Amino acid sequence: MTTTASESLDSATGKPDPAFIRRAVELADLNAVRVALFQHTKDPEIAALPVAMQLDDAGRELLISKTTAWLEKNARPGMPEEPPQDEMRQLMNLATKEEMGDLEFDARRELAAFQPFPFQVNWTGKRPELPEGFQVAVIGSGFSGLAMAVQLENLGIPYVVLDRQPDPGGTWTIHRYPDIRVDTISITYEFPFEKNYPWKEYFGRGADVQSYLEHISKKYGVYENTRFHHTLEKATFDEERNVWALEASTPDGTVSLEANVLVNALGTFTNPRTPNFPGVEDFGGIIIHPSRWPKGLDLTGKRVAVIGNGSTGVQMVAPIAEQVEQLYVFQRTPQWISPRDKYGKPIEPEVRWLLDNFPGYWNWWRYMAIAALFGTHGFLVADPEWQAQGGAWNPMNDKLRDDLTAYIKAQTNGDESLISRLIPDYAPFSRRPVVDNGWYKALTRDNVELVTDSIEHLTETGIKTSDGRMLEVDIIVAAIGFDIIKYLWPAEYRGTEGVDVHDLWATDGPRAYLGMMVPQFPNMFMLYGPNSQPLSGGTGLPIWYMVWSAYAAQCMIRMLEEGHSRVEVKREAYDRYNAALDVEASSLLLMNEYGNPEKNYYINEHGRIQVSAPWYGPEFHRMCTQVDWNDLEIS
Ligand code: NAP
Repeated sequence: MTTTASESLDSATGKPDPAFIRRAVELADLNAVRVALFQHTKDPEIAALPVAMQLDDAGRELLISKTTAWLEKNARPGMPEEPPQDEMRQLMNLATKEEMGDLEFDARRELAAFQPFPFQVNWTGKRPELPEGFQVAVIGSGFSGLAMAVQLENLGIPYVVLDRQPDPGGTWTIHRYPDIRVDTISITYEFPFEKNYPWKEYFGRGADVQSYLEHISKKYGVYENTRFHHTLEKATFDEERNVWALEASTPDGTVSLEANVLVNALGTFTNPRTPNFPGVEDFGGIIIHPSRWPKGLDLTGKRVAVIGNGSTGVQMVAPIAEQVEQLYVFQRTPQWISPRDKYGKPIEPEVRWLLDNFPGYWNWWRYMAIAALFGTHGFLVADPEWQAQGGAWNPMNDKLRDDLTAYIKAQTNGDESLISRLIPDYAPFSRRPVVDNGWYKALTRDNVELVTDSIEHLTETGIKTSDGRMLEVDIIVAAIGFDIIKYLWPAEYRGTEGVDVHDLWATDGPRAYLGMMVPQFPNMFMLYGPNSQPLSGGTGLPIWYMVWSAYAAQCMIRMLEEGHSRVEVKREAYDRYNAALDVEASSLLLMNEYGNPEKNYYINEHGRIQVSAPWYGPEFHRMCTQVDWNDLEIS
């Protein structure tokens, strides 16, 4: 039974009793506890403890009892000052028990978020006088648009945000399918400048993420600079005046405006794939793409098909299975689907208390949760020696493959007819990892059937499969993903000499310099643009939104401080960067046959990597924070 915080508060002192505090520590991330306690006490016994996974019973008890005792005396709200650089490095090394190099230190030192606005860039001196009417247009008020807007707000640069939705939150305003929630833990899927946000669950639900983003928009002054119901239709660069002429459609007609700088924060999963199965027009029931889930749709007692087992399809199957009469789960390609600790669980009152009363715990919990991603590069690079001994890719990846295979077998109760169809023939980490929300277990229910025969065509009453079966359904959920290749789409973007961005990209799909800039498109940036999804030793997307928006802000700062009006990437730099990117990508798992490249939205129809940044995370961070001014032209 969970105790509430108030039940365990001492009525005389207002403090929780020791048993409550101990429970809080036991439930916490013990790595974060270890570092936070050491930061306060400098206790060598705590410093000597290994990482949580390697703690023996005695070490665990030592850590828990010392922390409980410290909190009994010292618990209080607040956050410690950022430690000096040397101490910070010592704490970060202590956190992971690994000595990091300078490259890694620079990329990671702000992750624990002790400063008010980590990753914020600033004027070199006093803010210069801005040209009259100067403004930046940010397209999109989702995570990345808000990151940009807050940077601009802090710099005092006027801006306007345009968003086609009625509320802030981007993808989180439109997705509302059953059990939608983040599948990366919320402590990493949040902005580092909003301290200790009171998430209700470890993995925030979709509506809570939207509320969070609305809260950010309102608290940091972005909301009043946002024009909702504005859909960008056309952006044309005026070479004479170095401004962007924008046209947006609104419920009241077309609106024109000008911006000196255009920042596209459109998201990657913007354009849903059309469910164009043969016979689709004959189907008499409802076909839904999850991004267009009808409000109030009642699935009770219905016969439903869910097509697709990406992150979206997998997330919704178990809750749908509980409501419907019959559910057909269509799988075209098996996925590696893995469990997450505390997925779907509320943050316990004890842990909430700890977050509010153990200064530094929130910071180190963030750091440790992000640190779980530091090693991902290791999954992607082949080990030829290991392969020569009969290994498939490298020891780390093969071990994960074995663990996940065992997981599939356990979840399906050893049902061979399921297992033989569920184990992928490609390596884990080739595609975007999918998180299990009870998907495998749901397949074992009496009212659920896994269908691996392909869809031949739809009829008025259901789906005909390639083995000749007719599956009668009322509702088809086409969780078939998004047209990822369509960056900056469907709006029209025209740069210098009237060039259309889509013509520029016609050869082999969208490209950019650092995922952000395109030649002939001056004063224009993309956040989460082509080849920017960090694959390797990354830090989670919200941090990257801060990093990319800080890059755009650095360009604007320099342009404005030098009294110029135009910043653009040189074509030579764009070509050189992309050639190097293709070489770097070629050695990665997902471009290798064993990574199943033809079945991966990270790779485009031209066979080149398009979504992902192939660089080692800290290296990509360096490229995006230490601007190489030789690659840019400012005039
Ligand atoms: P997705 O990963 O592209 O998956 C699409 C699925 O539909 C695949 O299983 C695909 O099969 C199948 N499919 C596509 N066309 C089909 C067809 N004609 N017939 C049968 N099956 C077809 O798309 P998604 O699941 O929407 O996920 C996209 C991304 O959104 C994720 O990778 C993630 O980054 C993000 N996301 C995040 C969350 C979260 O954080 N909570 C939740 C959902 C999504 P094949 O594998 O054979 O191509």
